[in-house]
Amino acid sequence: LGAMNETPTRVYAEIDLDAVRANVRALRARAPRAQLMAVVKADAYGHGAIRCARAAQDAGATWLGTATPEEALALRAAGIGGPILCWLWTPGGPWQAAVEADLDISVSGIWALDEVRKAALAAGRTARVQLKADTGLGRGGCQPADWTELVGAAVAAQAEGTVKITGVWSHFACADEPGHPSIALQLAAFRDMLAHAEQEGVEPEVRHIANSPATLTLPESHFDLVRCGLAVYGVSPAPELGTARELGLRPAMTLKASVALVKTVPAGHGVSYGHHYVTEAETNLALIPAGYADGIPRHASGTGPVSVGGKIRRVAGRVAMDQFVVDLGDDLVRAGDEAVLFGPGEHGEPTAEDWAQAAHTIAYEIVTRIGGRVPRVYL
Ligand code: PLP
Repeated sequence: LGAMNETPTRVYAEIDLDAVRANVRALRARAPRAQLMAVVKADAYGHGAIRCARAAQDAGATWLGTATPEEALALRAAGIGGPILCWLWTPGGPWQAAVEADLDISVSGIWALDEVRKAALAAGRTARVQLKADTGLGRGGCQPADWTELVGAAVAAQAEGTVKITGVWSHFACADEPGHPSIALQLAAFRDMLAHAEQEGVEPEVRHIANSPATLTLPESHFDLVRCGLAVYGVSPAPELGTARELGLRPAMTLKASVALVKTVPAGHGVSYGHHYVTEAETNLALIPAGYADGIPRHASGTGPVSVGGKIRRVAGRVAMDQFVVDLGDDLVRAGDEAVLFGPGEHGEPTAEDWAQAAHTIAYEIVTRIGGRVPRVYL
């Protein structure tokens, strides 16, 4: 949004940076012996990476985490210091720039380690490398069977001075399902793989495996550092864990739009593409100028909740690219009146979790997909 001070008129996301700070403090209190990494990938889950990174650091987040090195380099370009881990390694990535920017680079295999080593030689400095273990997620990370070889190669690279092993880490598959049998198995595998690395002389600055749900539910997973994304933005990682309020979190994003048009239509009138909604009686419709190009899920056609005129209404018919309709019944609102798609829920408005349920997805996807066309207004 830059220097624009006026409230946007179509659709916009208000971001409450006080809420981000409060959530970081709340999470630090949940993991008092660990450092906190604020995960700010994907533009801080749609909340704005640079503003949120700074807010999180103000509140005591000592690490930042991103998926791509480009995301981490953008933080550095904005003048953000402190350790930043990027974990989505791809061949041919900007590894020399990453080494020069003092980023921590996650490595899951020999090929990645070799590329980072070469980048360190080209940069003329030591690369900070974190070894990622696949303790059961079955996505990134090094398999236990390949761990000895990776650790050996990393220790050799450390001895030659190209690499410093700063971390050993892993990621859970089912931390959002407390009691899932994979959780204990992954913790045991992590301890084994860590012990092996330490026997080989690795002395990591940080050992870590916990994401937001593990930070909130599983103290034995906290180790030296917890990596929190969604909870930093005040959203509950899963309905089973409780609402944001029950978890002591404050949702940071409120998505607001202005009603663009109000009109009365007769009974039997089809609404929006496909005519999946047909009015039962004469009724008042309000047009909300936000659509799937803005990240409003098309899967929430017919179900997505919106607070308009003091009541919750449902999306009537299909969500289109730039707009959708709600049925006001006998009520009336005016063009220009405020519609709240989701927010903290404190004033009866829906939450991101409500939209996730309406669209059969997770709240992560709801906030993260709020599009680049939607201005962010920082409170
Ligand atoms: N760590 C890694 C490796 C991740 O990919 C993510 C996000 O998906 C996180 C931590 C943060 O997860 P959450 O948003 O559940 O805290």
